[in-house]
Parts: sequence; structure tokens; C-alpha cells
Amino acid sequence: MTSKTIEKLCCPFDKSDLSLQVFAQDVSNNIKEGILTCSVCKRYYPIVSGIPIMNPDEYREFKLEIPLLEKWQHHLPNTTFDNFRLTNTTVTSLPEQ
Ligand SMILES: [Zn+2]
Repeated sequence: MTSKTIEKLCCPFDKSDLSLQVFAQDVSNNIKEGILTCSVCKRYYPIVSGIPIMNPDEYREFKLEIPLLEKWQHHLPNTTFDNFRLTNTTVTSLPEQ
């Protein structure tokens, strides 16, 4: 899938624009792996073998996505995945006593 095609996609829940992070591309710059995230509902949609997974929550299986998320975790520091939504876990340091 080309990035031009992916840029046309919007969140199926709230029709918001999605932001794209590309993790792997083939020789003709087609996106092979990446993640789309919605800034409104915080859902993420993995792109696997060039196909964006944009099913409703009830048709997604979190355990099938865990290997991908683990593989991509280093691209997404301070991020956890909860119920198909991204959560930023920026560590706030405790005030010094
Ligand atoms: Zn959304």
C-alpha cells in the first residue's frame, strides 16, 4: 500500500485524520508495516503486509496483535496499548524530598 493511499484513510469511528508511522517499506516505497493512530479516540490500526487492519474493536483480537506491538515497541517509546488504544506513559519523576 502506498503512503498516498493511506493518507486518504480516516478513522472509521469518528472520521478523524490518522497519523502514520512507517516501520518497513519495500523497494518501491510501498508501506509494508506501520501503524495508524487516531488523535481523537486514540485507537491504533496496524499495517501488516501492506494491509491496514481497520476492523471494529469487536472483530480484533488483541492477542494476535501482541507480537506486532512487541516488534514495534522500540519505535513507540513510552507507549502502551490498551483495548486497541494508545496510552502515553511518559514517566513523571517524583518531586525530590
Ligand atoms: Zn478515532
